Amino acid sequence: MSDPTSGDGIIVTGASSGIGAATARILAERGYIVGCLSRRGTVPDAVERRAIGYQCDVTDPQQVKDAVQKFTAKVGSLIGLVNNAGAHEEMPSAELPLNALRSMLEVNFVSAFSVCQQAYPYLKAQGGMIVNIGSFYDHLGVRSNLAYAASKAAVASMTRTLAVEWARDKIQVVNVAPGYILTELNREWFSDPKNHDAVIRRIPARQIGQPEDVGRLIAGLFESRSPFLTGTTIYLDGGEGISL
Ligand code: NDP
Repeated sequence: MSDPTSGDGIIVTGASSGIGAATARILAERGYIVGCLSRRGTVPDAVERRAIGYQCDVTDPQQVKDAVQKFTAKVGSLIGLVNNAGAHEEMPSAELPLNALRSMLEVNFVSAFSVCQQAYPYLKAQGGMIVNIGSFYDHLGVRSNLAYAASKAAVASMTRTLAVEWARDKIQVVNVAPGYILTELNREWFSDPKNHDAVIRRIPARQIGQPEDVGRLIAGLFESRSPFLTGTTIYLDGGEGISL
């Protein structure tokens, strides 16, 4: 492993579990210093020397500001942000309380924007890349998922706007939109073979994704840093979202 005291800094929100933990671990293994923001504030196993944990509720702008400031002061330069923290809940639309809708938009969308805003002055200093984590639900009609799907469509829209506004600052903004990935978000639901088999039948690739699939894609985006890639949504769903 390379020198633990040097390297470009990347912030990953929601790095205490699932996709965020896998992404933080892979980025650290590839030589980046990773700021891991979550309410638990933990860092992934085995990369403690290249990952720094911050207890941070992304819905609280002051906590976000403090964590981003502390991390950038420590590493010196911020070249990336992975906006991954998020939540999922289902409810039939007719019964969806407006407060539940507001709270889903707050966690998945408003907070993601808040972290972008706080990271912007640091990224602007030398250019960088923001990877937002959306969902393939952003372009689908999914029963009982009005709040979640709308929050992720908003993330995709935000990605396009920021990509256009911040291109002059040499900041690329990309939306990675996974399909079904096995994490704590859905592990219990997938433990029912009925649910598991029904989903597998719909996915042309005939498998459910793993958090590392998303982490490797994101690490590849940082490594290739193609300056022409910005504003777009990359779907990682085994072909489910385009399958008839
Ligand atoms: P997990 O439940 O495993 O992880 C969610 C992460 O978000 C945790 O690290 C949690 O940390 C963090 N988090 C949640 N709320 C907050 C908050 N208020 N402040 C700070 N951190 C928070 O889920 P996944 O890994 O599956 O989900 C990660 C992202 O991927 C989400 O945005 C999700 O919508 C998206 N996604 C997931 C898919 C899937 O099939 N799994 C499919 C498509 C998209 P802590 O509890 O410590 O705060």
